[in-house]
Amino acid sequence: NRRFVLAQRPTGEPDNDTLRLETADLPTPAAGQMLLRNEYLSLDPYMRGRMSDAPSYAEPVALGEVMVGGTVSQVVTSQVEGFAEGDWAVAFGGWQDYALSDGKGVINLGKNPENPSWSLGVLGMPGLTAWAGLTQIGRPEAGETLVVAGASGPVGATVGQVGKILGCRVVGIAGGPQKCGHVVDTLGFDDCIDYKASGFPDALATAASDGIDVYYENVGGAVFDAVLPLLNTSARIPVCGLISQYNATSLPEGPDRMGYLMGQVLRRRITMRGFIVFDDFGHLYPEFASQMTTWVKQGKVRYREEVIAGLEQAPAAFVGLLRGEAFGKRVVHLDD
Ligand code: NDP
Repeated sequence: NRRFVLAQRPTGEPDNDTLRLETADLPTPAAGQMLLRNEYLSLDPYMRGRMSDAPSYAEPVALGEVMVGGTVSQVVTSQVEGFAEGDWAVAFGGWQDYALSDGKGVINLGKNPENPSWSLGVLGMPGLTAWAGLTQIGRPEAGETLVVAGASGPVGATVGQVGKILGCRVVGIAGGPQKCGHVVDTLGFDDCIDYKASGFPDALATAASDGIDVYYENVGGAVFDAVLPLLNTSARIPVCGLISQYNATSLPEGPDRMGYLMGQVLRRRITMRGFIVFDDFGHLYPEFASQMTTWVKQGKVRYREEVIAGLEQAPAAFVGLLRGEAFGKRVVHLDD
């Protein structure tokens, strides 16, 4: 059983000393447990937070413990009701070949799921995050302008496509012409602005010429600076993620814009609300799953995935995800 354990808490970007590859004996299931073979490991931005012991909404991974992560796994042996050998399951198996589970929080996908790894993306946690954050906090109405950051990633791509289904004008923000082209041509957004190009704030203002009614926040930083002056009265901001800050070791250089931010919130009567997907919206999972499965089958929501071959590639692929190297959802196929 190969597994990555947290060896050292990173300062800034994780490096070669952050995770350590170990080989351990195959774990033996106790009564009421099942043995899972992890086939796909999800790579997600929140994992950076778990490597750190700064105060957060979840406990950090302890030093020496297996790095946490969502997995799509196959049941090897089972003493858990509702799970049999050969079933596919969405679990929290971590960065390792095999994991034990008591079945709590594990979803059975049956013997022959069509695209098992999609349950780590559009049909799983990131999809629920997108759909629930948008519909429950963003509450967009037909004809409104929705702007979404991180538009080519699994959350942002889904947010924008759901916004189109709900009748919004949708403007994405992404890094580089290739990602922006995909967001417009394949995902069907009305426009997509490259935040790395010069003149980004002006280009965004032109694309959102009626102002912004809903801003779905995935990144923070300079992107939010460009969005803030464009917000309309009664704008809603689901604060989902702030990936531009996850590797930061200090606050950005001044000037202090807190007064400007609070002035905008007051004068424009803006609602900003953060959320943690399963804590706040876990109860909506069945409704989400049935709705999103239908949209995906109908081709109304499209999905792009990048499969990384081999567990040993996971640390580098994760650092690349935080750097913006992923194009779509990154999963690791452990078998290769
Ligand atoms: P993404 O694939 O969107 O995240 C990686 C992308 O982030 C990169 O490809 C890059 O896109 C972008 N990025 C990285 N650094 C910066 C930067 N400095 N400025 C702007 N963009 C940057 O991941 P997900 O779709 O999985 O997640 C999106 C967000 O949602 C994350 O912030 C994540 O933490 C959050 N999240 C929150 C949850 C919750 O419960 N609140 C649950 C799940 C996710 P590009 O190439 O376009 O720059």
